[in-house]
Amino acid sequence: MNLTKELQTAIEAVRKACALCVDVQSTLITADTVVKKDRSPVTVADFGAQALISAHLETAFPSIPLVAEEDAGDLQLDHNRQALDNVIEHAKKIDSSANGSQIIDAINRGSFDGSDSGRYWVLDPIDGTKGFLRKQQYAAALALVENHQVILGVLGCPNLLYGQSAGDGAHGCIFHAARDSGAYLIALDAGQTELPVHVDEISAPSRARFCESVESAHSSQSDSARIAELVGISQPQVRMDTQCKYAALARGEASIYVRLPKGEGGVSNPERYIEKVWRHAGGMIIIEEAGGVVTDL
Ligand code: AMP
Ligand code: MG
Repeated sequence: MNLTKELQTAIEAVRKACALCVDVQSTLITADTVVKKDRSPVTVADFGAQALISAHLETAFPSIPLVAEEDAGDLQLDHNRQALDNVIEHAKKIDSSANGSQIIDAINRGSFDGSDSGRYWVLDPIDGTKGFLRKQQYAAALALVENHQVILGVLGCPNLLYGQSAGDGAHGCIFHAARDSGAYLIALDAGQTELPVHVDEISAPSRARFCESVESAHSSQSDSARIAELVGISQPQVRMDTQCKYAALARGEASIYVRLPKGEGGVSNPERYIEKVWRHAGGMIIIEEAGGVVTDL
């Protein structure tokens, strides 16, 4: 399957979104945060990133629909007028032709519900708004699904180091994968060459490092510590926000990622926990193409 145009388009779209996120993060103030009905903070960058990616995908592939996290309903409320103006201002810096109604339309184009056949894009414009607000890890996560299978994924991780040690220079990574074509890392600033990535080769669980959420409300850290103990893992865990964990695994920085949702609808009340496709689709294919395995619990 030749996905060259799809992959190129997805990388360009994610690069634009990351540029907007970096810009918003450098000027972040609390007025940029809107509280959604589920009380999660959603920032100007979530909306702006979704608008830019959606518009870019629509231009290249007008007939492929989009399943995305945000909708512009809250942004259109009177008391969020300032936030909308901020979205427009930041989007215009990346794409000078952007205007208010196009931005609203582009965000709302992400309301597709998915289908059993054909293709659709899947987008979390910012996975981990909490990490974004803490100025730690967050990711723009995009995937292409065909006939129920993820066939392409791109993760933009603006705060992840390109090299694996602090002295290694640039922040900002884009990980990408297309089905049966391997997984790769490129620098967000496009200055470095594309590197193939592979999961680590550790076979003894005792030598593995596992990673988990920073937010203890998202995943049971005590249960994962217990699992680690039972498996004999002696290395300290790596706590990281978002699908950046998939990126860390894909390049062998950690070996295992356990997610044990809890709290409202979590482990204690699993029938109420609804997982969202955009929280995993992009990261999943990057792991699989890097030689790893993704399963449910
Ligand atoms: P992480 O940084 O890995 O914890 O992941 C951030 C993701 O967790 C975001 O996509 C959130 O939407 C999602 N999330 C929010 N609340 C919960 C919860 N109670 N359990 C699991 N995931 C959650
Ligand atoms: Mg999000």
